[in-house]
Amino acid sequence: MSHQLPSALEHGKELREKFNQIKPLLFLDFDGTLAPIVEHHEDAAISAEMRDLVLRLSKKYPTAVVSGRGMKDVSQRVNIPELYYAGSHGFEISGPGNFLKENDEAQKVLPQFDEIETSLRKELKDINGVDFERKKFTLAIHYRQVKEEMTDEVHQRVATVLKKYPELKKADGKKVIEIRPSIDWHKGKAVEFLKTQLGEKDQDYSVYIGDDVTDEDAFKYVQHGLGILVGDHGHETSADYALKDLDEVKQFFELLLQ
Ligand SMILES: [Mg+2]
Repeated sequence: MSHQLPSALEHGKELREKFNQIKPLLFLDFDGTLAPIVEHHEDAAISAEMRDLVLRLSKKYPTAVVSGRGMKDVSQRVNIPELYYAGSHGFEISGPGNFLKENDEAQKVLPQFDEIETSLRKELKDINGVDFERKKFTLAIHYRQVKEEMTDEVHQRVATVLKKYPELKKADGKKVIEIRPSIDWHKGKAVEFLKTQLGEKDQDYSVYIGDDVTDEDAFKYVQHGLGILVGDHGHETSADYALKDLDEVKQFFELLLQ
């Protein structure tokens, strides 16, 4: 572990007391937090046990799932209609009662995604194991299946193509490069926006649980809240507590529900 954060599990009882008093809003990342990271991103699945815990938690705290996946994709995988879902790092948000909010600025750069996708597919086609995932407002280039010695080449080629698209930018995740609109919008801003949808008027304390570098935007940016990092992404973190793995996430949820 590169961080020295206190364990959310060890402090679970005091956190439960605190949450019982302040009634936080709960924000959960999906991959690596609710569902195990898998070799092929399309295989990711939440266990029945975890799903049940999230469902029960959502009855206690207003809950949203915040993911880099497309909004439809993540909402289908979790399959709890009562929740809010922020997909594509928050560029698209859905909720109960047909609630839907898409980032207007991001809409404008949609045609660029089609262009860059064609271009990148061509540039990367001779590298084995590159896997594209097109979401509405993000293009993910997965390289988990690419040979280690070729991963720098993937990064370089993506960077070269990206130079031609100033309206787009990239972000690095776990074995994935994500092309996004070059707009100041991220999981943290999505959470701040969702706070206005989810909570009662004075309810703006949030608990955010996530495992990846992209979740740092939520740990850092979100005011009046608490961040819990799952595992270790090898970079500096602004989280307040840590959980080792999904099993500890489960135990922590159980503790909150007691
Ligand atoms: Mg994750």
